[in-house]
Amino acid sequence: KPLAALLGAHGLRYAYRGIQAVHDVSITVGEGEIVALLGANGAGKSTTVKMIAGALRPAAGAVSWAGKNVTGFPSYAMVQEGVTLVPEGRLVFQHMTVEENLQVGGHVRRARAEFAVNFERVLEVFPRLAERRRQNAGSLSGGEQQMVAIARGMMSSPRLMILDEPSLGLSPLLVQHMFELIRRLNQQGISILLVEQNAQQSLRIADRAYVLEKGRVVLAGTGQEMLVNPFVKQAFLGL
Ligand code: ATP
Repeated sequence: KPLAALLGAHGLRYAYRGIQAVHDVSITVGEGEIVALLGANGAGKSTTVKMIAGALRPAAGAVSWAGKNVTGFPSYAMVQEGVTLVPEGRLVFQHMTVEENLQVGGHVRRARAEFAVNFERVLEVFPRLAERRRQNAGSLSGGEQQMVAIARGMMSSPRLMILDEPSLGLSPLLVQHMFELIRRLNQQGISILLVEQNAQQSLRIADRAYVLEKGRVVLAGTGQEMLVNPFVKQAFLGL
């Protein structure tokens, strides 16, 4: 895979009302890569990806995207640039139908011309959502809402998809499907930044990974290196 850094986060820092959540995080995602972000609860993974996606404004540091400084860009501008954050499933629009959720996802200038194609593709990938397209998202199961969140992200024609714990609350079979889907999206040319509790499966599909601890990157390497790293094995793989 080519490794021109598509996304670069440099020295990111963030505090919630004086509580320092991210101290100094630098990560990159190359074109076509799957990069995993591991860390214990509260390590700062979500805060980091929110800063990258423009949902939070970094207190310090910089974000570059496709050779451009995008530090402080709000999330709608990042989506327009091709960076889409898929939040956890319960953050879909509960009182809108599945179809309306998808329409909102596709309501971005960069994706408008591709709306019909994206819509078709998404319903093909998620036949279960096709069946439930006129149902309120809030009436779906947790796993189905997770699918809506990803489907909504796919509607924006992303070049980088940031997935925050996509397998959360899914049954083992659906977790399997989720990882297959991430691979498939990647094969279609979408770069992936993946926040996951499921370290084993994430590292298997990841080109590279970072471990965060107390708001800092403490370890980085290829997915393969991480799978055999003693610290990773002990802390995340239960070995
Ligand atoms: P998890 O795996 O549990 O989701 P995480 O690695 O994604 O954890 P963050 O959600 O980024 O971690 O949280 C980092 C730190 O910031 C934690 O100590 C958390 O309590 C704190 N934090 C997160 N969101 C807020 C908030 N809205 N207000 C105050 N503190 C917050």
